[in-house]
Amino acid sequence: MSMWIRTIALCMAALWLVGCSSVPQRQLAQDAVTAMGGADKLMAIQTLIMSGGTGTRTKLGQAMTATGMDQTAALSNNVETLDLANGRAAYDYDLKVGDFAQHRHEVLTKFGEGDAAKPIGIETIDNVTFATTPEGLFSWGTQNSPEWLLRRNPVSIALAAAESASASEAVQDKELDGKMMKYGKGTTHDGEEAGFYFDPETKFLAGFEVLDTETMLGNVDAQYILSDYKDVGDVKLPHHIKVSKGDEDYSEIHYASIVANDPKAAEVFAIPGELKQQAEIAAKGGDVFPMQLVRVANGVYHGRAFRHHSMVVEFPTFVAVVEAPYLAIQTRALANAIETQFPDKPIRYAAVTHPHFDHIGGIRAMAALGATILVEKRHEPAIRKILEAPHTHPQDDLAKAAGNAGMIETFEGKKEIKEGNQTLELHAFTSPHVDPMVMAYVPSARALFQSDIWFPAIGAGGSPAAANLAEEIQKAKLRVDIMVGGHGLVGPYAELTKALAKKN
Ligand SMILES: [Zn+2]
Repeated sequence: MSMWIRTIALCMAALWLVGCSSVPQRQLAQDAVTAMGGADKLMAIQTLIMSGGTGTRTKLGQAMTATGMDQTAALSNNVETLDLANGRAAYDYDLKVGDFAQHRHEVLTKFGEGDAAKPIGIETIDNVTFATTPEGLFSWGTQNSPEWLLRRNPVSIALAAAESASASEAVQDKELDGKMMKYGKGTTHDGEEAGFYFDPETKFLAGFEVLDTETMLGNVDAQYILSDYKDVGDVKLPHHIKVSKGDEDYSEIHYASIVANDPKAAEVFAIPGELKQQAEIAAKGGDVFPMQLVRVANGVYHGRAFRHHSMVVEFPTFVAVVEAPYLAIQTRALANAIETQFPDKPIRYAAVTHPHFDHIGGIRAMAALGATILVEKRHEPAIRKILEAPHTHPQDDLAKAAGNAGMIETFEGKKEIKEGNQTLELHAFTSPHVDPMVMAYVPSARALFQSDIWFPAIGAGGSPAAANLAEEIQKAKLRVDIMVGGHGLVGPYAELTKALAKKN
């Protein structure tokens, strides 16, 4: 065989291997855009209102045991509003996990006019609302921020595929959700590497895969599956979006309707008058998050934030924090408050009560500050996974901290931190909320901090979990006068016993 013939034979074999197809990847991506209505029409979409969404969200970080399966949340009444032209997004939805139900509204909007406009966040839970930086948004619906809805929306991804997929490499056959698709590679508009799946029958963009950096999970391979394409004005858009991350189900939403370029979309991004001042500070780029240190007793403070709080214990030469909840920005706000009040005392320890994501969202930031993370042995696998996960897009405080970060220190059952006359005790026990759960006790103040079981000073009623807490306090022989809440406020222990007596 001559060299020339051998080359042709090899090329044919190569074509056979990639699915006997020589159609370039770019062509398939452009066909997908054409099937959706054409590039001009897709590029003319400035806003989308996707409404009537229902579905599930699986990676909430609410497992009831240290190594058990996560709970699945039901999402309903989802309204996703995208302002593609101005980089704004909002997510409004009801979330239900077991008995816990919440209405949430998260808005990534802009403060200021024209080119000077700066991104800010507005978060509303039930009827409480505040303005913050984009990082100050906490989302159960999207995990991080409605910004994800912008970065991963099908219109921008389809256009990016048509612009970036290889014009010379042939498409491959690759399975997606049980169906053989055509597959090519390219980049998103942000320059992230992405893989694109095209349905050979409908020509539509059937899905895409990309690396997502999640606030808790860190870098995970994410797959977005798009289906149920229906008319939206003169284009066709998917109404069903299923997401998996790290090969596990993550979320699945089905929208009843999508409307493009409805002037009403602008309303959701308006900044309410009473939030203008907060919004202006947030727009200047500094951390803006509610935080105050409220004195509980000598050397004991309540680090009171939006809905999730910490306990701060002062020792002669350092400070220990019990719980670093919610978000990195909250931990930074707490660290600032501590530095103002105790300028010479570093945060040496940060204790974890339980590994639910909303109660450990700040531990990576705490480790970045150099704090040792105190972890009950059974929580270690979950916490270590979070602390050791790489975070690249974007890097968070811990990813940037490199060699200066704090380490994990584990304990079994009980731990005591002592210096001078001050002591902090950590006690693990089995709670109906999560097993194990850790409560923190400061003997000098007879103060006890716990999360998610008893909500002090807000008129809460008794519950089986609260009754179990009272029993565990007795079992551990703790003399408690003051209850400090991870949620709620600070109240007398007698409030708990009264509520339990009423219940029985
Ligand atoms: Zn919890």
